[in-house]
This record gives sequence, C-alpha cells and structure tokens, in this order.
Amino acid sequence: MATLARPGVRTTEGASRPNGLEAQLRQHRRRLTPQRAIVCRLLDGNLEHPSAEVLHRRASAEMPTLSLRTVYAVLHELVEIGAIRALDLGTGSARFCPNPRPHHHMVCTRCGRVRDVQFAAPPLDLPPDQRRGFWVTGVDLVFRGVCGECRR
Ligand SMILES: [Zn+2]
Ligand SMILES: [Zn+2]
Repeated sequence: MATLARPGVRTTEGASRPNGLEAQLRQHRRRLTPQRAIVCRLLDGNLEHPSAEVLHRRASAEMPTLSLRTVYAVLHELVEIGAIRALDLGTGSARFCPNPRPHHHMVCTRCGRVRDVQFAAPPLDLPPDQRRGFWVTGVDLVFRGVCGECRR
C-alpha cells in the first residue's frame, strides 16, 4: 500500500472519512470557525506530520490574517479532543499527526521528514526490576535514520 505522500501531496486516505477533523470538532460541539476549518482541511489525511509553522505558512496563503498563535490554538484544541496527536520527535518543533490508527514513526535526522510506520510490534514491557510501580499505558517507537531522499 502506498502510504508515503510526497511533500505537498494530500492523499485521499482520511480526507473523505466521515470522522474527519471537522466532524470531530462538531462532535465535541465546537463551532467550525473559518480558522478551525482551514487548519482541519490542511491536516485531514495529511501524512507529512507538519509543524505549526508549516501549517501556518500554507494557511496564510488563503487567509493572510491568520496568526501562528491561532494555528497553535486550533492545533491544541484538536489534540485536546483526541482528533490529532502532537509529537515531539526531536526535530526542533512539535509535529502533528491526524492518523487515528495505532502506529509508530520514522524520522529523518537530516531533513526532519516524518513518516508513519504501521506494523504490529512485539509486545514491549518494562523490565520488572525497573518498573518501580509504573503503569504502562502505551509504547511509541521512533525509528531514527536517514531517509531515501537524503541518502541519494
Ligand atoms: Zn503519525
Ligand atoms: Zn531526509
């Protein structure tokens, strides 16, 4: 399955799902302001894991009055209702992922490209002697390395 999108290319996957980001906002009784709508549209089905800055740059082309601060506010709202995930992958800024399926990430340490990795990881658990009463609710794997484009 071709899940890797070229930069700037939105895949149809996710974009047409009935539970798109706009619909999820509505489910949480949030009014669909033009600012929210534009951020939702740019993120829906977007597999690039854009930063707020990247989204702001794209959104500004359509709505020049939109501030980066507002983009952050909308993103935090979407995170709050569980529609997207905010990821700190060590690329310098938070990256936002609308993929609702459980998945891991691969990160290019040269260009900062982030892609989803979908596979059933073998169950990982804390070694009992280091657990110290910790209750594990999830494990996220990050594969770091150099992407195909950067290796050329
Ligand atoms: Zn992701
Ligand atoms: Zn790269």
